[in-house]
Amino acid sequence: MIEKLYQKQYERTKELVQNPDWFLEFGRVRKLRLIGLGAIQAAKAGNITEAANYARRQTFDIFEQLLSEHQVRLGIPGQDELDDQDEAREPVSQIVIHHSSRAEGISLTALNALHLLNLYVPVYQRKTSPVLDSKGNRQPIYSGHFNEAGEQVFYGYHWKVEQDGEVHRLLDDSALGWHAGDWEVNKRSVGICIDDDIGHKNPTEDSLAAVADIIKRNYPTLPVDAATIVGHSEIIHTSCPGDKFIDGWKNSLLERIAA
Ligand SMILES: [Zn+2]
Repeated sequence: MIEKLYQKQYERTKELVQNPDWFLEFGRVRKLRLIGLGAIQAAKAGNITEAANYARRQTFDIFEQLLSEHQVRLGIPGQDELDDQDEAREPVSQIVIHHSSRAEGISLTALNALHLLNLYVPVYQRKTSPVLDSKGNRQPIYSGHFNEAGEQVFYGYHWKVEQDGEVHRLLDDSALGWHAGDWEVNKRSVGICIDDDIGHKNPTEDSLAAVADIIKRNYPTLPVDAATIVGHSEIIHTSCPGDKFIDGWKNSLLERIAA
């Protein structure tokens, strides 16, 4: 039964995301979530929060799957009229540290889908430049960023660091990553995400060492100080990268970079 409902929702979502302006219908996708059997059961039992969470997870799973299957219509260079989102990129002068807020970590395909939905969709839903072409039509979503396989990616961060210290390069430094929640900061910064929930604890030794290593190796001319290496919460009001950063592991990080 669950598989059948999942399949039905998958097919409906797949049809929807063929449209270049599918993101305008995202409200419809949100409604489609409620087809999920678990959601219906939870809703019947009166647990709306549980139903909504279940539905959100299911929609997200489907979207991640469709994105991995290249079923989501995105901007196509040479075919669509597209803006160069990296035109505003400036030399790197700041490092912004984030955490994924997930103890179990997040896969690259899930992170890619998450950032497309959470970072790009809201911007493209707004009726202002750069989302309109010269005829006033909606541009399809386009990051201008591609992975080694040539697939378009929507990562906000430039780097992702695992709890065991494994490092993933997500974006080149010439790419403007939408990670800080502040366009001026995004233009001139690099985002590094520790893939862990360190909301109320320190990052692992391995991940801290890896972050320090990334900064030392790749940004050797940056000053090693508290204004250059900052946490997300020092840019905007957010709990990211956790309440142990300021007056805590931020100092250890600076010491490691300077060592
Ligand atoms: Zn953050």
